[in-house]
Amino acid sequence: MTNNQFDIPTAVLLLGLLYLILPIMTWIVLNGQRSKPVTLWCGGGLCIGVGFLMIGQRPSIPAWMSFPLANVLLFLGYWGRIQSLRLELDLALWRKSWVFVSVIVFLLIFEGIRVGLQDTHIRLGFVSFYHIVMASTVAYYALRIGRERHAPNAYLIVLVHVLLTSIMVLRVIELIISSDHSEAMVTSMVDVKAGVIGILSAVVSSYGYIGLMLDQAISNAAKLKTDKLLILNKNQQVIAHLDRQRSLGAMSASIGHELNQPLTAIMTNAQLAKLGIERGHLQIEQVPDILKKIIFNSRRAHLILEKVRAFIKPTIVEKRPVNLNVLVRETAELIKQDVMLHNIQLELIKQDSSLSVLGDATQLSQVLVNLYRNAMDALQNQSKGKITVSIQSIKNWAVITVEDNGSGITDVVLAQIGEPFFTTKPEGLGLGLSISKAIIEQHGGQLIMGNTPQGGASFDIRLPINPSNS
Ligand code: ADP
Repeated sequence: MTNNQFDIPTAVLLLGLLYLILPIMTWIVLNGQRSKPVTLWCGGGLCIGVGFLMIGQRPSIPAWMSFPLANVLLFLGYWGRIQSLRLELDLALWRKSWVFVSVIVFLLIFEGIRVGLQDTHIRLGFVSFYHIVMASTVAYYALRIGRERHAPNAYLIVLVHVLLTSIMVLRVIELIISSDHSEAMVTSMVDVKAGVIGILSAVVSSYGYIGLMLDQAISNAAKLKTDKLLILNKNQQVIAHLDRQRSLGAMSASIGHELNQPLTAIMTNAQLAKLGIERGHLQIEQVPDILKKIIFNSRRAHLILEKVRAFIKPTIVEKRPVNLNVLVRETAELIKQDVMLHNIQLELIKQDSSLSVLGDATQLSQVLVNLYRNAMDALQNQSKGKITVSIQSIKNWAVITVEDNGSGITDVVLAQIGEPFFTTKPEGLGLGLSISKAIIEQHGGQLIMGNTPQGGASFDIRLPINPSNS
């Protein structure tokens, strides 16, 4: 034991062992989050550990190992940790050439003082100085992380590095005041304070770093959840967009109200004319006026219907290559939840993955969503409802077939299906298929409706294959 009641080589050895064990432990604990910053932090810790072990073994190993090599390792260890924290802050890594140059400069100065000047006093001053610079840089970046992420664990790293810096500043002051330049004096300065702070720094830094990384993992998981919710939300918005024509359901009350006025006027005028003729008091000169009113109101009604038609009429914005597999897969994603909710199986049959058409992907998705929705309606009372989607090429056509195992479409319905406002559903508008037909026809294709041999409904979307596909 020394007069400091602290055996310095043992303390340095202990510090070295701690710095060796703690990064390994950190590495093990952070299994699953081993990113580049974690590697740099742990690698830096290992370098520091080996450096301290070499210093602790000073009497029994060659001087070049325990002096220059050990200090270069400590220097590199700090570099690694600083880089790790910079990466956490999304800052660029310092260039390798800078690290190389700084190590060479460091080594030259260190060896110049040790071998050239042979002054332990200045050497210790220089070593303390680089510890101050490096430890305060670690504290600075940890502080920035703490502020940015509101992470208390980062402040633990700050705290121990500020302590480390302070103890080194004290040492420099002691060196300046002291006139004794002997090795014994220098050694006595590496006292109990430095030893305890060093050990504390090793333990608390690792604890703080693990905490910081685990907090980050938790917040990443929470972010992932929010992102997923956002995507879900976006999908729902797309569905809402695709369902534009269905919003006519909500609008139907006001459309009805608007139509009511001209239709009532037509009816009133027609009844007036009829009564007048029946009772014989309709003057011939009154007839043009009544007819004029009837014509005027018919036009009003027609205009209202035109407006509705314009609202639901598809207009192709632009035609681009649309990969049908991607289209079918993405549209299936949109209705996945609905399908699951209704306990229906949606099967996408694997096919030629390169088949594409030229068109408007959003509108083509709209057609598919309409077909899926209709199939879901048809499968409402089916215990094992299933929708099958397949893609194939027939001559110059790309064909998407949507089939269900519902009760199919009767001949009577088949004769009118696809006509605007034809529906067999109490709440239906009878617009889905007519709009779908219009979209496919605008794409130069056909929507073919029929039944499967098993009796369910079957819809073929035939589109011209993208010429660059064949
Ligand atoms: P809506 O769904 O509002 O009735 P659509 O134009 O989409 O309007 O459909 C028109 C009609 O076609 C439906 O009311 C229904 O009778 C029939 N239909 C459409 N798809 C199917 C299907 N998969 N199975 C049986 N009938 C269908």
